[in-house]
Amino acid sequence: MLIKFFTSDIAFNDNASYRRVILVNTILVLTIIVFLFFAYINYMLLSNNLLAVFEILSAFISFLALIYLRKKKIIKYAAIVATINLFTFFIIFIYFNQNEHFGIIWSIFLPIFAILVNGRHTGSYFSLAFYMIVIPMAFSGIGVWQDGYWNYVDFIRFTIASLVLTFIMYMNEFSLEKSDDKLFEIRVLENEYIEELKKVAITDSLTGLYNRRHFTAVVPRLLMQAQRQDEFISFFMIDIDYFKEYNDFYGHNKGDDVLQKVAFFLKKHLKRYNDYVFRIGGEEFAGIVCSRKAKETNEWIAQLCEIIEELKIPHDKSAISEYLTVSIGIKTAQVKNGDNMEMFYRESDKALYEAKESGRNRVKFAS
Ligand code: GH3
Ligand code: MG
Ligand code: MG
Repeated sequence: MLIKFFTSDIAFNDNASYRRVILVNTILVLTIIVFLFFAYINYMLLSNNLLAVFEILSAFISFLALIYLRKKKIIKYAAIVATINLFTFFIIFIYFNQNEHFGIIWSIFLPIFAILVNGRHTGSYFSLAFYMIVIPMAFSGIGVWQDGYWNYVDFIRFTIASLVLTFIMYMNEFSLEKSDDKLFEIRVLENEYIEELKKVAITDSLTGLYNRRHFTAVVPRLLMQAQRQDEFISFFMIDIDYFKEYNDFYGHNKGDDVLQKVAFFLKKHLKRYNDYVFRIGGEEFAGIVCSRKAKETNEWIAQLCEIIEELKIPHDKSAISEYLTVSIGIKTAQVKNGDNMEMFYRESDKALYEAKESGRNRVKFAS
C-alpha cells in the first residue's frame, strides 16, 4: 500500500529508475508538507507574509508535479519541475532570510535533491547553477547578514561544505550508476545461462532431440490443445530393428552414430513447428503430430520406414534387410475427455509390438 503510493504505481523497469520514482515521490510529498508548515509559521508567528505566499506557491507547484507524475508516469519532467521549484524557492528564501537563525542551512537540500532525482549530470548542473547564485549572495552578505555577524570564515565554511556535499552526492550517484550497470550485465549473462540450461534440460545430449523429461511435460499439454482445437492426434513410437545385434556386431560407438543419424532424419522429416519428436529410451523414439487431416498425417509418418531404410546403413545382422530399419506403431484419435497420455502411449506401444511381431520394418496402427 505504502510502496504503491511512493512508486506512483509505476512498473519496475530497472533499479535506477525505480529508485528515482520512489525518491521523487517521497521528496515531493515532503516538500509539500514542509512548505505548508513553514508557510503557517511565517504567516502566523513571524508575520513574514511574503515568504509565506512563496511557500504556499511552492507547495502548490510540488503538488502539481506529484499529480503529473501519477497521471503520466514520467519521472523526468516531474523531477525537473520539482527541482526548479525548490531552486527558486531557496534563492528567494535566502534573499529574504539573510541567514537569520542560520536559515541558509536549508539550501544543502538542493544538491541532495537535484542529484538524487535528476541523476548525476542534470542534477550537478542544477546544483552548480544554484551555487553560482547562492555563493555570491552569501559573499555579499558578509558583514551584513545576522546583524553584521556573518563573516569571511562563515562564508568560506559554508561554500566549501556546500561544494563538498555536491561532489559527494555526485560520486554517490556515479557509483550507484556503475553498480547498476554491472548488475545489468550480470543479469543479461544470467538470463543467457538460464536459457541455455532450459534448453539442456529438455534435450537429449546424444541426438539433440527432445528428451523424455520434455516428453512427459509437453504431451499432456498437446493433448489438451488438440482437444480444444478439435484436432486429431497422431501419437507414434519408433524402435530400431535388431539394434542389439547392430551394437554387438559394429560396436557401441557405431551404434551411437546410427542413433544420431536416425534422429537427424526423423527431425528433418517432421519439421513443422508443432511436430514433436522425442528420444524416450535407448533406441526408442516417440513423436506427436496434431492435425485436422489424420489420414495424410499418418501417411507422412509412415514414410519414415522407407526414409530410414533408404539411408542404406549396412546392417549385416538384420534378419529382414541388408540395411538398418525401424518399426513404427501409431495411435490416432480425436482427444476425448478422460483420454490421457498413458492411453496413447500404451496403444501405440501395442501397435509397435504388432509391427515387430509381423516382420518389422513396417507401420501398424492401433485400432
Ligand atoms: P527389436 O528389433 O525387437 O527392437 O530388437 P532390438 O535388438 O532392437 O531389441 P531391443 O529393443 O531390446 O534392443 C535395444 C538395444 O539398443 C540394446 C542396446 O544394445 C541398444 N541401445 C540402447 N541404448 C543405446 C545407446 O544409447 N547407444 C547405443 N549404441 N545402443 C543403445
Ligand atoms: Mg527397444
Ligand atoms: Mg529395437
